[in-house]
Amino acid sequence: MRPIPFGKIVVWIAEELKEKGSIFGIHKNKFYRNNSGKYIEMFGEKLASPIGPAAGPNSQLTQNIVASYLTGSRFIELKTVQKLDGEDLPVSKPCIHAQDECYNVEWSTELRVPEAFDEYVKAWFLLHVLMKELQLSNERDFMFNMSVGYDLEGIKSPKIDAYIEGMRNASTTGIWKECMEVLRTNMDLFTHFKVEDLSKISPVVCPSITLSTLHGCPPQEIERISNYLLKEKHLHTFIKMNPTLLGEKFVRDTFDSMGYDYITLNGHHFLHDLQFGDGVEMLKRLKANAKELNLEIGVKLTNTLPAKIVNGELPGEEMYMSGRSLYPLSIALASKLAKEFNGDLQISYSGGADFFNIDRILATGIQPITVATTILKVGGYERLTQMAQKVETQLKGAFAGINLDLLDKLSKEAPLDKHHRKELRPVGSRKLTSKLSLYDCAIAPCTIGCPINQQIPEYVALVGDKKYEEAFALIVKDNASPGITGTICDHQCQYKCTRLDYDESVLIRDMKKIAVVNAADNYIAQIKPLELKTSKKAVVIGAGPGGLATALFLRRNGLEVTVRDRSLKPYGIVEHVIPEFRIPAEMINRDFEMVKSHGVKFEFGVNESINIDELKKTYDYVVLAIGAWKPGKLELAEGSDKAVNAIAFLQDYKVQKGNVKLGKHVCVIGGGDIAMDTSRAAKRAPGVETVTVVYRRTKNYMPADHEEIEAAAKDGVKFRELLAPASIKDGKLICEEMALGEKDKSGRRSPVATGKMVTLEADTVIVAVGEQVDSSLLTACGIELDAKGFPKVNSALETNLTNVYVAGDVKRGPATIVKAMADGKVVARDILAKSGLNADFEKKVLSMDEETLYNKKGILSDPICSEKESERCLSCNSICELCVDVCPNRANIYIDVENGFNLSHQIIHLDGMCNECGNCGIFCPHDGNPYKDKVTVFWNEADFLDSENKGFLVLNKEKGEMRVRTEDGKIVNYTIGEENVISKELKIIIEAFIGKCGYMI
Ligand SMILES: Cc1cc2nc3c(=O)[nH]c(=O)nc-3n(C[C@H](O)[C@H](O)[C@H](O)COP(=O)(O)OP(=O)(O)OC[C@H]3O[C@@H](n4cnc5c(N)ncnc54)[C@H](O)[C@@H]3O)c2cc1C
Ligand code: SF4
Ligand code: SF4
Ligand code: SF4
Repeated sequence: MRPIPFGKIVVWIAEELKEKGSIFGIHKNKFYRNNSGKYIEMFGEKLASPIGPAAGPNSQLTQNIVASYLTGSRFIELKTVQKLDGEDLPVSKPCIHAQDECYNVEWSTELRVPEAFDEYVKAWFLLHVLMKELQLSNERDFMFNMSVGYDLEGIKSPKIDAYIEGMRNASTTGIWKECMEVLRTNMDLFTHFKVEDLSKISPVVCPSITLSTLHGCPPQEIERISNYLLKEKHLHTFIKMNPTLLGEKFVRDTFDSMGYDYITLNGHHFLHDLQFGDGVEMLKRLKANAKELNLEIGVKLTNTLPAKIVNGELPGEEMYMSGRSLYPLSIALASKLAKEFNGDLQISYSGGADFFNIDRILATGIQPITVATTILKVGGYERLTQMAQKVETQLKGAFAGINLDLLDKLSKEAPLDKHHRKELRPVGSRKLTSKLSLYDCAIAPCTIGCPINQQIPEYVALVGDKKYEEAFALIVKDNASPGITGTICDHQCQYKCTRLDYDESVLIRDMKKIAVVNAADNYIAQIKPLELKTSKKAVVIGAGPGGLATALFLRRNGLEVTVRDRSLKPYGIVEHVIPEFRIPAEMINRDFEMVKSHGVKFEFGVNESINIDELKKTYDYVVLAIGAWKPGKLELAEGSDKAVNAIAFLQDYKVQKGNVKLGKHVCVIGGGDIAMDTSRAAKRAPGVETVTVVYRRTKNYMPADHEEIEAAAKDGVKFRELLAPASIKDGKLICEEMALGEKDKSGRRSPVATGKMVTLEADTVIVAVGEQVDSSLLTACGIELDAKGFPKVNSALETNLTNVYVAGDVKRGPATIVKAMADGKVVARDILAKSGLNADFEKKVLSMDEETLYNKKGILSDPICSEKESERCLSCNSICELCVDVCPNRANIYIDVENGFNLSHQIIHLDGMCNECGNCGIFCPHDGNPYKDKVTVFWNEADFLDSENKGFLVLNKEKGEMRVRTEDGKIVNYTIGEENVISKELKIIIEAFIGKCGYMI
C-alpha cells in the first residue's frame, strides 16, 4: 500500500471524472448534496449529514476519505494513530472478514504516523476542492475527527504530539504547503474551484478527537488521557466505550437469543476492561472538567467487541467484531449510559448502523453516526448516499439531549429486528466452486446455485417488464415443472444471490410463480408436439419430477418417449405426499398439461416389477426415475413399532383429505423439511390439540428451511429442542435431555446426553427420518451399486448397463424436485446426442442498461412479492464488480474493452493501493481473490518482483514499454504494438489501460 502523491491524485480525479463519470469508482449520480437546507451541528460547525466512516479501513487513505465524502459522509473519523506504526505494527493479512457480522484484526493505521498525517491533510484539501468543483456545497459542511490510542505515554510521544498539533493547525507543515502549491499550479483543471477558495481552507483540520480504548488501554489510563486531551490540547473529546461494559452475561444471552451462539467471547475483557459503574463516575468527572474548559465531551458507542478466533476467520487468536450483531449491544449500552445522565450525554454512535436503522438511531438524539461494516459490503461507499438521503430531513442542529424513551424502545426492539438476527442470512459463504478467471469473470451466482441453471436475471427482468410469456418461455427451456418449482422449490439459487450481501435474496422463486400464473395457460394451449426426428424410442419408469423432466426434454427435441408409473397419477412425491396446503393441485396439473401437450405418452398403474431386457426389446433407452420410497427407520430402546412413518402418514393424509385420527397430542421426530410438513399436516387434523417437533440439537441447527420452520411455528407447532427420543410407551414419548457440547467437524456444537429424562404426551409419534433407495430392486435389474447402495453411474448418469440411466432421488437418495429435473437434463442431453439430435437449452441474451445497473448499486431494500421485485435484481452477469465496490482503498477498477472478450468490462487490480485486507476475496462470487487473481498494474519494479500476480509494470509510458508477467507466469518485456510477445487479451487490456487510464500509473 502506497500513498498517492497529491499532484497525481488531483489529475486522477479530474481525468477519471471526465473519462468515466466517476471518482475512485464512485459514480457521479451517487455524489451527495444535501438539498433539505437542514444540518446537524458539532462543536459549533454545521455538517450536511450526520454520517461518516468510522475510524478504520474506510478512512485510512486519502482516496478512501474522498470516496466517503462524495457519497454523503460529513463527519469523517480518521483512522486511529498510535505510537506503534508502519512496519512495527504487526497486522496479519488478510485482516478483514465481513462475510456477515464483520471481524477485523487491524485497529490503527498501517502507515507511519507522519504519512497518515499527510493522507489526512491531502484529503482535507481535496474535499474543499470537490465541494466547490462539484457544487456540493458553498461552504464547508464536513468535519474531520482524529482518533488516537492507547496510552498516555504514547500520546505524549513527540511523534503523536506532532500529529495532534499538526491536526490542530496544519498551516506550517510540509504537506500543507505542497497541497497549496499543487492546486495553485493546476487551477486549469477546475471550473468552479477558484484560486481565492484556496485561502479559505482552514488550517484547523481537527478541533476534536476520539480516544481509542481497548487493545491494552487500562481503565485508569482512559481518564488520564481524556483529561490530557481536554486540558493540555483543548480538544473536544469523545471516549470510545465497548459492550464489555454490559457484562458477559448480557452479551452472551443477547447473542444466543439472536442466533449468534457460535461467537466465542473472551471473558478476560469483561473482567479487566472498564466497568460500568466506574465508567459512569469517570464520565461525570470528565464532563465537569470539559464544562469548565468550555469544551464538549461525549462517548463513542461502541468501538468493537473482542471475540476469540475459533473457526479460522482470520489469522491470530483474537478478532474484533463490528456490524449487524454489534447493533443490539451498542444500542443497549447507549440506552443504559444515557439513562445515567438523564439524556444529557452526547453519543457518537457506531455499531451496526445501516440504511434500515439509521433514521431510528438519529431520532433518539444521537449524532453523529459512523459506519464501517455496511460500507465494506457490496455496494461499498455508495451505500452512504442512500443513508444520507434517508435522514437529511431529520437533521436538527446541535445536540439537544437524548430522548430516553425512544432509545429505550429501540434497545428493546433491537434483538428482535430481523436485519440483525442471524437467520436473515441463511448461508455462510456465497462462494461458488468455479475458479476466478483472469478475464470475463462476471457471473450471476444464482444461475450456478440453481441445479438446472435457470436464466434467472433474464427472466426476472422480463417479469419486471410484465413480459410474462417471454419469461415463461425462458423458464421452461430448463424447467419441466415451473408451477411446482415456482411454489415449493427449495430455491438454492437464493442462497447464492448477491443481494444476501445487501439485505435479502431476490425472491427468485416468487418471480417464477408470477410468470406461471400469468402466462402458463396461454403458453401451454399453443404447444404442438414436435414431429419425431428419429426412430429411436425411450421409456422412463417413474412419473415423478425427474422422470417427467427427462421425458419432456427428450420429446421436445424430437424423440419418442413413454412414461410408465405404478401409480394412477403423475408427479410422485409431489402429488402423493406433499400436502395440498403447500402445493395446490392446480399447479401440479398445469405442469402435467405442459408435458402431455408436447406429446409424451403415458402408461399409469403399471406393474412395479422392472425387466430391463424386456423393455429393451421395445425401447432403445431406459431411464429409471423411481424415487426413494423405502421407509427409513428410527431405532428406539422401546416402542419403535408404535411410531408412524412420515411418508406413509402424509400419503394417508392426502388420500383422506386431512381426515386422519391422531389423538390429541402428536410428537414428530426430526428436524428436516419432511418433519415440518408432517407437523403442519398433523396440526390441521381433527381433534389434534398439540403437535411437538422433537429435535436433538437446537432449532438453529435444524436442517429444515428457515421458511418452513417459521411456517410451522405460525401454524402453532411447538418445538422441543435438545431432546433425544428414547422410547414410546403408554401414549408417551420419553426423551433424554441433551446439552450443547464442543463443536463437531461441521462447526455445530454437538449434543451431549445429560441422563435426565423428559416425558411428552404423545397419542401419535410420527418419525420423519430420511427414506432410502430400494437397492434390491436395482440389483435385481443388474445395476451395480456403490458402497452407499446408490447406482454406479458415469457423468451422463448412465449405469453399468448400456443405455440404461437413472435420474432423481433413485440416484442419490431423497433430495429435491429441481435436482431431479437437473438429472433429467443430463440424461436427455446424452440420449439426444447419441441419437444425433440437438438439445434446445440455448441461452437468451438480454442487453441491460449500464446506468440503470450502476444506479442499483448501494441501494438496500426489503423484498417485495410483485413484479417490482425485479428492481432488486442486480443482473450480476452483466455488471458484477463487487470487488470494485467493496475495496476500501479503491484498488480494483473496471476498464472498458471494445472487443476481444465476452464482456466489455474487465477488472484491473492496482497493486500500489492494496493493503491485502482480503475484503474483495470475501465478496467475489468465485473461488479466488481479485487482489491476487486479476490483471494487476504495478507502480514500481520492487512491487512487481515481490508479487506473483499476472499483470504489468509500465517502464516507459511515452514509449509504451512494459514488463509483463504473462498468464503462464513468465516475465517478458513488451512494447505496445509488438506482435506475438504476449496474449491477445493482455495486449488489449494493456492498450486500453494506457489509453484510457494513464493517469493511474
Ligand atoms: C414430505 C416431502 C416434502 C418435500 N418437499 C419438497 C419441497 O418443498 N421442495 C423440493 O424441491 N423437494 C421436496 N421434496 C423432495 C422431492 O419431492 C423429491 O426429491 C422429488 O419428488 C424426487 O423426484 P423423483 O422423480 O426422483 O421421485 P418421486 O417423486 O419419488 O417419483 C418417483 C415416481 O416413480 C414411481 N415409481 C416408483 N417405483 C416404481 C416402479 N417400480 N415402477 C413404476 N413406477 C414407480 C412413483 O410412483 C413415483 O411417481 C419433499 C419430499 C418429501 C417426502
Ligand atoms: S441479484 Fe439477480 S442476478 Fe444477482 S444473484 Fe441475485 S437474482 Fe441473480
Ligand atoms: S483490493 Fe481487495 S485486498 Fe486489496 S485493499 Fe482492496 S479489498 Fe483489500
Ligand atoms: S467480484 Fe470482481 S473479480 Fe469477482 S467476479 Fe465480480 S467482477 Fe470478477
